[in-house]
Amino acid sequence: MSAYHPLNEQEAIEIARGLESIFTPGAHLVSREIGDGNLNLVFHISDPKEGSSLILKQALPYAKVVGESWPLTLDRARIESEALIQQGKLAPGLVPTVYKYDPELALTIMQDLSDHVIMRRGLIESGRYPLFAEHISTFLANTLFFTSDLGMNQQSKKLRVREFINPELCKITEDLIFDHPYTDADTNSFDEAIRDEAEALWNDGELHLEVALLREKFLTQAQALLHGDLHTGSIFIKPDSTQVIDPEFAYYGPMGFDIGAVIANLLLNFAARGHWDSDETARQEYRSYLIETIREIWIKFDAKFRSLWEKNGVDRISMTAPGYKDNYMNRLLQDTVGYAGSKMVRRIVGLAHVADIDQIPDPAAREHAQRLALSIGKELIKRNRKTAAIEDLIEVAQSAA
Ligand code: ADP
Ligand code: MG
Ligand code: MG
Ligand code: MG
Repeated sequence: MSAYHPLNEQEAIEIARGLESIFTPGAHLVSREIGDGNLNLVFHISDPKEGSSLILKQALPYAKVVGESWPLTLDRARIESEALIQQGKLAPGLVPTVYKYDPELALTIMQDLSDHVIMRRGLIESGRYPLFAEHISTFLANTLFFTSDLGMNQQSKKLRVREFINPELCKITEDLIFDHPYTDADTNSFDEAIRDEAEALWNDGELHLEVALLREKFLTQAQALLHGDLHTGSIFIKPDSTQVIDPEFAYYGPMGFDIGAVIANLLLNFAARGHWDSDETARQEYRSYLIETIREIWIKFDAKFRSLWEKNGVDRISMTAPGYKDNYMNRLLQDTVGYAGSKMVRRIVGLAHVADIDQIPDPAAREHAQRLALSIGKELIKRNRKTAAIEDLIEVAQSAA
């Protein structure tokens, strides 16, 4: 059973059975395919009697997109498992434990997190996660700092960059986030009701300049090992725990892309509250909760990153040059704002949408949320290089709502 082929449930069970640290020999195991996937199979395998379980994720050799499929490298399973292992070392307790990686079958066997909920669902259901900002700021500061030239030997880093060359998955981002939403591309997908907004995006030169600059940075700046797809669908959460999954887009890129992804997805939920809250008071309270979370994420990230830099910095001149740290953190904030905006826009007019907005059943309420998300997203992109404080981003969201 070694040559690559997509597994069926019985085969998945047989492979899982080999993990003797999880399952007792001879146990009766049950398998369920739970992936939502266009790209991967995800099997949940459990021993109902013992209550033990694990997740087996297998990459498929193609992506299903707009009814067609295009080939996609299985090497992303290696990237995903290596990224999970590295993130687990740098940010213990914030990613699932990897039990096994099988290169030939392109599969990763990992800790089952079914006692958590996917954060996008949790936010739609108005959940509150008071430790999230603390947890995700640690994840971001640790994984980004220690994989950058500030926090690791620069020759070793170059060798790591080579291990995480991920051209096919990067191209998905380059096309779907930094190109297609700004032209009349076949992959775009939006409600007819907002065609005026989509067409405005295709003809906004000021916006295109900023997007081209953000795209250039995504293409060329090997700043740190990114997760690469850090939306709220890649975060498992419960009140006392946060776990980041699904780093198959990992590569060395600009740090602000990951921080911006988290913030963009909180703001997409912010834009959707018109539907998900029953009255104006609840809406205002939940929006304040989201804004406070965003503020706290940046403030904590900034403090933790600077503190790691003080204690563990390896780069002499960048530690001693007057003003360099402040300059660096400000550019990081500006990138965060620009990427947050880019990630909001693509979720409204591009190929892949978010449930926070798509699942609003009433067309008028959905249209309202889409227009709000677009207006925040565009403004963040346009203002990114002028941003001086996280309050500037918050101001954009609050004044649009
Ligand atoms: P994809 O790359 O195809 O998006 P994900 O890694 O995001 O795959 O997993 C898809 C879904 O499978 C998740 O939304 C979640 O429901 C389930 N899943 C993935 N990993 C785990 C895990 N470690 N524990 C429990 N469920 C998981
Ligand atoms: Mg209309
Ligand atoms: Mg996923
Ligand atoms: Mg994925």
